[in-house]
Amino acid sequence: MPVTRPPIEGGAVAVRAGVITAVAPAREISGDRVEDLGDVVLVPGFVNAHTHFELSHLAGRISTDRGYVPWVEGLARVLRAGGDAGPLVGEAVRSAVRQSLAAGVTTVGDITRRPESVRPLLAKSALRVVSFGEVLGIGRLRAEFLAKLTAAIDSTAATDGLRIGLSPHAPYTVEPDGLRLCARRAREAALPLCIHVAETPDEEAFTTARVGPLREYLERLGVWDDAVPCPGLRPVELLSACGLLGPRTLLAHANYVSDDDIRRIAEAGASVAYCPRTHAAFGHPPHRFRDMLAAGIPVCIGTDSLASNPSLSVLDELRHLHRVHPDVPASTLLAMGTCHGAQALDWNTRVGSLEPGEDADFVLVTRAADGPADPVANVLASTTSPRATHVFGEPVAS
Ligand SMILES: [Zn+2]
Repeated sequence: MPVTRPPIEGGAVAVRAGVITAVAPAREISGDRVEDLGDVVLVPGFVNAHTHFELSHLAGRISTDRGYVPWVEGLARVLRAGGDAGPLVGEAVRSAVRQSLAAGVTTVGDITRRPESVRPLLAKSALRVVSFGEVLGIGRLRAEFLAKLTAAIDSTAATDGLRIGLSPHAPYTVEPDGLRLCARRAREAALPLCIHVAETPDEEAFTTARVGPLREYLERLGVWDDAVPCPGLRPVELLSACGLLGPRTLLAHANYVSDDDIRRIAEAGASVAYCPRTHAAFGHPPHRFRDMLAAGIPVCIGTDSLASNPSLSVLDELRHLHRVHPDVPASTLLAMGTCHGAQALDWNTRVGSLEPGEDADFVLVTRAADGPADPVANVLASTTSPRATHVFGEPVAS
């Protein structure tokens, strides 16, 4: 499944020095060493465009049953009580890397508040990564904003496989001046940006009038102070006004958006990371990913963290979508889980499809004998885990 073109029955991928040199029917390809992979569907490595590896040790610890604000408040309390201690974070990240590769994920957009601990671990892994350093700056958090911003975009740990990005956390945790500064710093250093936006219906009350459950949450947390300015704009309008919407911007969630928001996002060339099972766990109304795709927005897939989602598998997310939206073509879903994510993370010249010149990252999924004839539908209808994941043409997990 090259993704960029129709499936090739009996296809083969030629690899030299970790890079794809040809994708064609097997009879048209020759090589020094030929390996028959059996009756499998070969898909590009999946791209998990939005996750938080450092929260992986919180799997099952914080309930999503009562909605988003109680969940994020529970998360903040666990982290403040030592849930972000170095050894916990280290093991969380190592475990997340293993789980991702086993699930066929080879590229991730990972959010971190601990860049100094997390990035060296990611740099050693087989994953391609955009490591978005996350910053918060509202009320009493304002004082540490600049220092956190400097650490977030420190490029010391960057490698061929690890790129640095910046993530102002959300419109309810960073003030407008901070959002503007993030936009400027990202532009100056040509860094990709990621921000959580319109994740809950409460965000609009907060950004337009500084009222509602998110204001109360910040007060309970002891973060609120009376110097917090009120932009009086809806969340997506606010991002636009602060210069944050552009082709290198990835919007996480965008669960509550108007037609006007979708138009704005599309015109700016920004991407959206939809996190299907986390979205479902919080009971949000149906996501407008189809309207976004129709508007030309590259909608990609994120698992979000294990603190709100059962696995770090993009394939599991796609299978969930395939069950819930059987009318969406399987090939569209696969594109969301591969090439759209690569585009959103600016890795699309290297990964996201099986094309000559790209890194030989691919995943082997056993074809179900009793499943649909269409290879993508077959993969999405089955429940089997990937048989192997290859990075630079070599197996890294099986
Ligand atoms: Zn997130």
